[in-house]
Amino acid sequence: MFFLDFDSSKRCYICNIDKFTFEKAGINFEYHRMIEHSIWKYVDFLVFMNQKNKKNLNGFEEKIFNIIKANKIHWFPLGKSHSLSLFSNKDKEN
Ligand SMILES: [Zn+2]
Repeated sequence: MFFLDFDSSKRCYICNIDKFTFEKAGINFEYHRMIEHSIWKYVDFLVFMNQKNKKNLNGFEEKIFNIIKANKIHWFPLGKSHSLSLFSNKDKEN
């Protein structure tokens, strides 16, 4: 039996970036986890994709649908966060 020991209070389920990285950048980790990378938004999207008529998919949806059906996860923003990239760009400007 596979058991994943994962503490969501210390690491984002979606991007897999740890809480310390966000705190170091001055970004509220709870905000990131609950709003920016809400796991429920991803669940909603997967349900939406599963229920949508495949003939009515737009280009983006069709691309993601094919990735999901191939059991790939590279559509997830692993190691990426919009708020961290904004912080990074702001840091480069200074
Ligand atoms: Zn995240």
